[in-house]
Amino acid sequence: MICDSCGYKNDKNAKSCIGCGTVLKLKMSDEELSCMLNRMSDRSDTLTASRLDKIIGLVFFSLSLIILLVCIIFSAQPLISVIAILLAIVGGIVARYPKVIWEINKLRISVYANADDITPTDFWSLSRKISYWILFVFTIAVTVISLLFEGTY
Ligand SMILES: [Zn+2]
Repeated sequence: MICDSCGYKNDKNAKSCIGCGTVLKLKMSDEELSCMLNRMSDRSDTLTASRLDKIIGLVFFSLSLIILLVCIIFSAQPLISVIAILLAIVGGIVARYPKVIWEINKLRISVYANADDITPTDFWSLSRKISYWILFVFTIAVTVISLLFEGTY
C-alpha cells in the first residue's frame, strides 16, 4: 500500500506507514470495488431464475402434461405415471422458482438453527442446478418404467 503522505511503498497489510508513521487507511482499488460489486450482484442472482432456468422450468411443466397424455394414451401404470408427473412438476419449481426452494431450505435449517441471517451460497446455487438435471433424468426414467408396465385406467 502506497502512503498518501510520503509515497513510501508499504506492505499490503501494514496498518501504519514505515516511512513516516502515518496511519494507513484501507483503500479499495477500482478493480477490487467492481469485483466486490460483481460478487454482490451474483449473490442476489442466486435467487433469480436465469434465462436457462426459466426455459428448463417450462420444459418440465410441458413435460408433466406430455407424460399425462402419453400415459393415458398408452395406458401406462397409473401409480408410476403419477410419480413421473410429480417429479416433472417438482423439477419445474426447482428450475423456475429458486426463491421458493430457498424458503423451503431456510425452513429446513430453522428446525435446528437460526435461519434468519443466512444467504444462499454459490454451492447452494450449484446444487439446485444439479438437482433439476437429476430430476430431469429421473422423470424420463420413471416415465419409461411406467410405460413398460401396462396398467388400467
Ligand atoms: Zn508515509
